[in-house]
Amino acid sequence: MTRIQFTESVRKLLNFCYYHGIQVQIDWVRRSTREQEHLFRSGVSWTMRSKHLSAKAVDLQVIENGEFVEDGWQYEAMGRYWKSLGPGHVWGGDWNNRDVYHFEVK
Ligand SMILES: [Zn+2]
Repeated sequence: MTRIQFTESVRKLLNFCYYHGIQVQIDWVRRSTREQEHLFRSGVSWTMRSKHLSAKAVDLQVIENGEFVEDGWQYEAMGRYWKSLGPGHVWGGDWNNRDVYHFEVK
């Protein structure tokens, strides 16, 4: 999938959030190899093959009443919607190393 297609899917996901009253903020999109290495070494990330290296992943954080929501129904709803956008849409909430903020394409 191209970055343009990825961006289009992110736009749809942001619209989904808007229409369901889910407020989100963008955390990571692209990471440099150096940034990824740092996160990998500090245990925040467990791979050096992250889709963030090719800017085909976005981390979205839900905000409720001005507070960051660590886990909640919003991520489940967003994950379901993300996967409904078509094959190749992967939600980090399905991984063994659960990462509910992470939405990527193949
Ligand atoms: Zn991520």
